[in-house]
Amino acid sequence: MASAPGTDTPARRPRPKRGEGQWALGYREPLNANEQSKKDDNPLNVRARIENIYAHRGFESIDPGDMRGRFRWWGLYTQRKPGIDGGKTATLEPEELDDEYFMLRVRIDGGQLNLEQLRTVADLSVEYARDSADLTDRQNVQYHWIDIRDVPTIWNRLEAVGLSTQEACGDCPRVILGSPVAGVSEDEIIDGTPAIDAIESQFIGDKEFSNLPRKFKTAISGHPGHDVVPQINDIAFAGAVHPEHGPGFDLWVGGGLSTNPMLAQRLGVWVPLDEVPEVWKGVTSIFRDYGYRRLRTRARLKFLIADWGVEKFREVLETEYLGRTLVDLDAPEAPETPADHVGVFRQKDGKFFVGAAATVGRISGTLLHQVADIVEAHGSDRVRTTPMQKLLVLDVDEDKVESLVAALAEIGLNARPSQWRRNTMACTGIEYCKLAIVNTKDRAKDLIGELEQRVPELDTPITVNVNGCPNSCARIQTADIGLKGMLVMDEAGNQVEGFQVHLGGALGLEAGFGRKLRAHKVIGDHLPDYIEKLSRTYLEQREDAESFAR
Ligand code: SF4
Repeated sequence: MASAPGTDTPARRPRPKRGEGQWALGYREPLNANEQSKKDDNPLNVRARIENIYAHRGFESIDPGDMRGRFRWWGLYTQRKPGIDGGKTATLEPEELDDEYFMLRVRIDGGQLNLEQLRTVADLSVEYARDSADLTDRQNVQYHWIDIRDVPTIWNRLEAVGLSTQEACGDCPRVILGSPVAGVSEDEIIDGTPAIDAIESQFIGDKEFSNLPRKFKTAISGHPGHDVVPQINDIAFAGAVHPEHGPGFDLWVGGGLSTNPMLAQRLGVWVPLDEVPEVWKGVTSIFRDYGYRRLRTRARLKFLIADWGVEKFREVLETEYLGRTLVDLDAPEAPETPADHVGVFRQKDGKFFVGAAATVGRISGTLLHQVADIVEAHGSDRVRTTPMQKLLVLDVDEDKVESLVAALAEIGLNARPSQWRRNTMACTGIEYCKLAIVNTKDRAKDLIGELEQRVPELDTPITVNVNGCPNSCARIQTADIGLKGMLVMDEAGNQVEGFQVHLGGALGLEAGFGRKLRAHKVIGDHLPDYIEKLSRTYLEQREDAESFAR
């Protein structure tokens, strides 16, 4: 063996780099159990087993590989057994945490619902989900307490009105976020709905794209207000005007939060509406073929983009997948903060839309029925869910707006909410989620009530995002005040629910992640004091229009 220059030590040969499981480089053999499961049987096939076997024989008959893996491709997760505290989340085996009931996620691409669909979603909640229904921050509705025996009936009834749970979870293209005001907003650059519909009909459920390295999140919005938070999606098409070619989309890739957060980056290209499905297919194919599959923790598209850089990614997209060069686009202006559409706004046809806050996204089938009745009584047939856990009612005549606003407020949906109610989000948390360490929804609801009393004068948004574990389903890193659930010691030395604080995150013009303040670990019951103090300091010391984050 040769010596290293200038030494007697034998030179070490560089160790060959371990493969990342990229299919395009020839790594077709599964390198972990998840990849093996997907190779053994395409997860979409599990529907037939649910319909033909599990729904007849019940929970006990379900194959564990299907239950904890492939079920997700049809929107099903086991939910957490009631009564297991957060301290046991990391110590129990998955099967000890599993309840015999399921969470079922209904994908609502673009967040668009008509009254028939809304009433169906409400009926199913009341009949099969103990009246549960959460509005997620990806425009979905999520049920709990679903019995496997009822799943085929639920599917049939959803599909009869054009809704589905297909690929609502799993390593596949999840629900496509769309502007909640697509087609109606006066400010809209372009309506992305035709592209969402085309991708949904051509590629969702297509087995070519049902085995991706991990989940794949898409957002398409022609609204200038970044209302689908493009920076945190795997792929996003954000409305942009090209100086020569006109309205189209600015393409972003590689965003994602969780434990290694990264903001999406612009590819620097302009994509016209009718080419969005083809470009989406190209980017998704790169992810499928070149995405890392060895470690689940490195399997999102963001890791490939981080290693390749956007220049190489664009080159591969153009040369290997599209066979043509895309049109260059300089960076368009970004909004200061993402639009949440809460309030009353004129549509381009002269009617109005009303956006209301459902406190931390927790609603119910009963409430959705009430919404449907109110919407119908005010002459509309269209409702939209939003990525900020809000509900919009479209097409309201001017003379009916105030009556609608009042009727929604009576059932707890406020179109003129306090800054606290408007800007606080919470993930599912310990009530149902097997990964959770703390309660989130009730904690956030109580927090809002307290802060409305204590700091009613808050006149500018301070976003508070409450997560039950490090996974960031409620986007802690992008909030002014991000709260990550954990166990902490109280004064008496007992382990109690608490939160690691991240401060100063933002989306929009000055997008960036909040800083984790190691010393700021707050006991859950002390959160109102902590946030009151922070917000008062901000209100007293801010200069001019200085925001909380910057
Ligand atoms: Fe569950 Fe954690 Fe996601 Fe909350 S952030 S829903 S606790 S996985």
